[in-house]
Amino acid sequence: MSDTEIDTLPCPKCEGASMHPVTVGEITVHRCKECSGIWLDEGQRLKLQKDKHAVEEIDIGSHEVGHEHDSITGGNCPRCNQPLRHIHDKAQKQIGFEVCRACRGSFFDAGELTDLTHFSLSERIRALLSRD
Ligand SMILES: [Zn+2]
Ligand SMILES: [Zn+2]
Repeated sequence: MSDTEIDTLPCPKCEGASMHPVTVGEITVHRCKECSGIWLDEGQRLKLQKDKHAVEEIDIGSHEVGHEHDSITGGNCPRCNQPLRHIHDKAQKQIGFEVCRACRGSFFDAGELTDLTHFSLSERIRALLSRD
């Protein structure tokens, strides 16, 4: 087996494609070489949602590919091989992503993290403005 030195994971949406680690600051995610989909281990998503700059560096894939891939559901967790569940963000229902119930990792298609972060920021600003 090669690749043992690099911590790669199989992409749940692309046959035979691997996701490679990408580190920005304190956040490490895995990004697919084919579709630029992003795997987040538990805890990384919350960190990322607070860091728009990191999202910009990580979520570099094509929105079009992301939208195509959004209709692909199923697939297994790259960490524990359990079937992934397709769920929708509570606040932003048009964004669907996959989660693993076992390890609580999640997979986002290209562009979805950017959408999610933009929403979070504008919501935060709105909350600030409405305070007084
Ligand atoms: Zn992929
Ligand atoms: Zn898992």
